Amino acid sequence: MTEPLYSLSISQLAPLLARGEVSPVEVTARLLERIKERNGELNAYLTVDEAGALEQAREAEACLGRGEAASLTGIPLALKDVMVTRGLRTTCASKILENFIPPFDATVVARLRREGAVILGKANMDEFAMGSSTENSAYGPTHNPWNREYIPGGSSGGSAAAVAADLCIASLGSDTGGSIRQPASHCGVVGLKPTYGRVSRYGLVAYASSLDQIGPLTKEVRDAAILLNTIAGHDPKDSTSVPQAAADYTEALGREIHGLKIGVPREYFGHGLDPEVEAAIRAALKTLAGLGADLIEVSLPHTEYAVATYYVVAVAEASSNLARYDGVKYGFRAEGKNLMETYLNTRTQGFGAEVRRRIMLGTYTLSAGYYDAYYKKGSQVRALIRSDFETAFKACHLIACPVSPTPAFRLGEKLADPLTMYLSDIFTISANLAGIPGISVPCGFSSQGLPIGLQLLGPAFGEAEILQAAYAFEQATDFHRRKPPF
Ligand code: GLN
Repeated sequence: MTEPLYSLSISQLAPLLARGEVSPVEVTARLLERIKERNGELNAYLTVDEAGALEQAREAEACLGRGEAASLTGIPLALKDVMVTRGLRTTCASKILENFIPPFDATVVARLRREGAVILGKANMDEFAMGSSTENSAYGPTHNPWNREYIPGGSSGGSAAAVAADLCIASLGSDTGGSIRQPASHCGVVGLKPTYGRVSRYGLVAYASSLDQIGPLTKEVRDAAILLNTIAGHDPKDSTSVPQAAADYTEALGREIHGLKIGVPREYFGHGLDPEVEAAIRAALKTLAGLGADLIEVSLPHTEYAVATYYVVAVAEASSNLARYDGVKYGFRAEGKNLMETYLNTRTQGFGAEVRRRIMLGTYTLSAGYYDAYYKKGSQVRALIRSDFETAFKACHLIACPVSPTPAFRLGEKLADPLTMYLSDIFTISANLAGIPGISVPCGFSSQGLPIGLQLLGPAFGEAEILQAAYAFEQATDFHRRKPPF
C-alpha cells in the first residue's frame, strides 16, 4: 500500500477491510490521529467522538470476523452537525444548541450504523445551514484545504473540507439551496443532492422543510452512489419521503453515455460568470461530447427570479421552523424577568446575525398584509421554475451547467454584503425549488489553484442517470485525483 489509509475512498477501502488487510480499528485510529493533528488548521469538525468511533470500529471488526460485513462496515464518516445523533452533541453550529444532546438518531444515521459505518464526528457548517461560506458558524469558519485564506463553501463546508483534506473517508451534508453541491465544487470533491423526498429528513434539523435534502460528499462518484444506496428509501417517519423503492445506484456506473442528450441552459452562461469557471465548464462539455453525449441548448427562462424566490420561500419556512428554539424545552436559555423577556433574550443572544435576519425576513413575508405579495407570489414563481425544468427535460436527459459563478472567495470577502452572498447561489437554488437532483463533480482549477465543479441536473428520481454521466466524466478526467496541498 503506497497511499496512506486516510486518503482512500470507500470503494478502495471496503475490499481491504473485507479481506482483512486492514482493520476498522486501524483505519479509525489513523483518522482520529490525523484529525487531532490537523483539524485545528481547518476547523472542519465541531465535535470528534473519539471513544464512540473506536467503539464502533471494534464492533465493525467483530462483524468482519464473523463474516457479517455490510456495505459500510468499518468505513469512517463525518456528518454535518445538522443531523441528530443519539448521545452525541448536535449544535447546528449555533450557540442556541451548544449543549444539545439528542435522544435519538436521524434516519440516515440509523441507516449508516446499520450498514456498519463508523461515525467520527460532527462537521462544521453555517448556523442552521444558512449561508454559502461556513462563516456563519458560531464556532468560527472552516478553511478551504486548497488555500486556507479561502472559504470552503457552505453551508456544508466542514463536510466538504473534511473529505477534501482526508479527515474522513466520506461525509453527509444537507442541501436546501446548494449546500452540498457548492462546497463540493469549492473543495474539489463530489457532492450529490438527491430528489426531494428520496432521502428521509427525519432527524435533520429543519431549515426550509420543502427544500431540505440530505446527500453524500465523497472523493469519487462511485462513493456517492454507495452512500445513496444506504440512505435513500422510504421512511414512515417522514411523510414527505416517497414510497417509491430506491434503485441500486452503482448499477449504471460504467455504462457509456453515448447518445445521452445533455441540455446546456442558455441563461446560465451570461453576465457574472467568472471567465475561468466558464472555460472549465465549456471544456467539460467538450469532454462529455467526446464521450458521445449530444449537447443541445435549452432554456430555463425564469432563472433570473430564482434567487428572489428562494430567499422568500426559504426564510418563511425558516421563521416558522426556528420558532421552537425558545429557551424552554432544550438548548441555550438567557433568563428574563418574565416568559416574554426570556424568549427575547434567549433568541437574541442564542442566534447569530444571519439567522436573526432570516427569521425577521421570513416573519415579514408571512405576515398578514404581506403574505400575498411575498410568500404566495414566491410559491407561484416557484411553480414556474419547476415547469421550466419539466419543459427542458422533454428535450434532454440531463442538464450540465456551473455550480457556482466563481471559484471559492476569500474569507471575509462577502460577509458585509449578504445580498452578494445570496446572489452566488444563482445556479444551485433552482434545483431545490424544483425538487430535482443534482451533482457537483470536479472539472478544473482556477489559475490560483482553486477547484471548480461541473453541475449535472436530472429530472426527479434521475439520480442513476446523473451518477452514470458524472462517473463517465470522472473516468475520462483526472481532476478528482488531485489532492490539496494540505
Ligand atoms: N446558500 C444558501 C442559503 O444561504 C443555501 C443553503 C443551504 O443549502 N442550506 O440559504
